[in-house]
Amino acid sequence: MLMRMSTLFLRTLRDDPVDAELPSHRLLVRAGYIRRAAPGIYTWLPLGLRVLGKIEAVVREEMVAAGAQEVHFPALLPREPYEATGRWTDYGPNLFTLKDRRENDYLLAPTHEEMFTLLVKDLYSSYKDLPLTLFQIQTKYRDEARPRAGLLRGREFIMKDAYSFDVDDAGLERSYRTQRDAYERIFTRLGLEYVIVAATSGAMGGSRSEEFLFPTPSGEDTFVRSPGGYAANVEAVRTAVPEPVDATGLPPAEVRDTPDSTTIETLVAQANALYPRPDRPWTAADTLKNVVLSLAHPDGTEELVVVGLPGDREVDLKRLEGALEPIVVAPATDEQIARRPELVKGYIGPAVLGPNAGDGEDRTSLRYLLDPRVVPGTSWITGADAEGTHVFGLVAGRDFTADGTIEAAEVRPGDPAPDGSGPLELARGIEIGHVFALGRKYADALGLKVLDENGKAVTVTMGSYGVGVSRALAAVAEATCDDLGLAWPMGLAPFHVHVLATGKDPQVFAEAERIGTELTAQGVEVLLDDRPRMSAGVKFADSELLGMPLVLVVGRGLTEGKVELRDRATGERRELPVGDAVAAVGEAVRTALAG
Ligand code: ATP
Ligand code: MG
Repeated sequence: MLMRMSTLFLRTLRDDPVDAELPSHRLLVRAGYIRRAAPGIYTWLPLGLRVLGKIEAVVREEMVAAGAQEVHFPALLPREPYEATGRWTDYGPNLFTLKDRRENDYLLAPTHEEMFTLLVKDLYSSYKDLPLTLFQIQTKYRDEARPRAGLLRGREFIMKDAYSFDVDDAGLERSYRTQRDAYERIFTRLGLEYVIVAATSGAMGGSRSEEFLFPTPSGEDTFVRSPGGYAANVEAVRTAVPEPVDATGLPPAEVRDTPDSTTIETLVAQANALYPRPDRPWTAADTLKNVVLSLAHPDGTEELVVVGLPGDREVDLKRLEGALEPIVVAPATDEQIARRPELVKGYIGPAVLGPNAGDGEDRTSLRYLLDPRVVPGTSWITGADAEGTHVFGLVAGRDFTADGTIEAAEVRPGDPAPDGSGPLELARGIEIGHVFALGRKYADALGLKVLDENGKAVTVTMGSYGVGVSRALAAVAEATCDDLGLAWPMGLAPFHVHVLATGKDPQVFAEAERIGTELTAQGVEVLLDDRPRMSAGVKFADSELLGMPLVLVVGRGLTEGKVELRDRATGERRELPVGDAVAAVGEAVRTALAG
């Protein structure tokens, strides 16, 4: 059906929404694709819904081609299955929960592992039923701490989630590969550049996971790449651990006065002024910094821990949270530190921490975790737990130990890749897809077993695979837009061609209508700007804002039998005899769709 702008439910806006930081957000709102209903919650308007439908179609086709079958779960779910897996609490404040009139707990699902597991448990019981992959395209709810950038980080959003069920690890590996391959085809068809990176599995649990990131400086994820092909989300980077150092012959540690040295910078200055090294100056990398952090456990309890790391590195809270998920981490406040008399702010050292301050049942010291670079035999300047003093030459393994190591330090450009494939380079991206080999966590928690060939009950192994469908729409908008507005690829645009009737001449309007009708009859999707008494300038500007890939201008030139065809993305224009317009547009659309 030919869509006429005179009746299309659309108002374009001249002004940017006040909360919009990114072009895609600004433009999708201004061009009337979406409308904010509440923070992170959007209404889909006709143009937006058409793009969404096309993206969903691509995702659905590739899922079906990969052998997955579509189902559709409710978004409103009972508490019990999520209680059984621990996620009722592990999801923390991100979970939208509510009560029904009988005071029973419900949630709005953030993802559906539990429900898929139970559904398969309900209906299947034999190895012969497997492998199986199911999927849905459905609305998800997460009470994100910082909803952002319109559809990119919503509190209600659309996800394709698929789940695979296999009897053994080899089966899971095949299912995982099949989904991963399907993801490559999906993002290629959407025209979205992607990088596949190793990821942490977070609240999902499980063994192996990879993220598909759309690289863009405005992304919230940082990832690393090495020349030799290592790629990982910064949260998943394992530090390349140096070899232990032989510490025999090192002098004993010595406590020294270092007045007014509560920061690494002042400490290094004091060390060089008061206790210069003969061979070279002291640097921040010679110091061991002990950072007090407050962990909020999902059950509501709070714990202070201390992380020890080389003084030339900062704690990266996102990496630390990645390592401790679902725990939420914050720097400890002065009040929290003051409640622990052994912590002398600015002079905290290993002696009062972890196993160094006692062990066994009656241990009261804080947990102490070390950066993996603090290997046995390395020697440090660190706090001596008294105002104005530090200890020099404190040797890891000899003079102190810890409760374990933790990936808490920032990753820096030039750091070695853990697999020896060269120095790391850092970049930012937006996560558009995620594939997880979950293993047996959910099947174990919910009792999903099948009988194997020998009649023995075995626990099923699972994978879960998500695509951010509404986020992908915003990512495509972000990748393709320019200063003038949106600029959709042919396969995703709400309409293939925008036909503009400009001026006042009734002949122009009649001709534009005829062209639009003929194109529509050929299967071309046409948006016709037939709005009367609207200046050509406004129509041009709107066509640039709305972003159909082809714009056909029927206007003044018609008296000489000419129309103009514009390519929205390249800005290229060519004049055509009006009689050729339908054929030329039809051809251009078909070529673009085939490419
Ligand atoms: P993020 O790290 O961006 O919060 P996530 O790792 O929590 O995402 P998953 O649980 O892996 O997300 O969900 C699968 C996919 O759903 C993600 O790859 C992403 O594309 C999409 N997604 C997740 N959260 C949101 C959101 N708040 N708004 C829009 N899309 C989202
Ligand atoms: Mg993810």
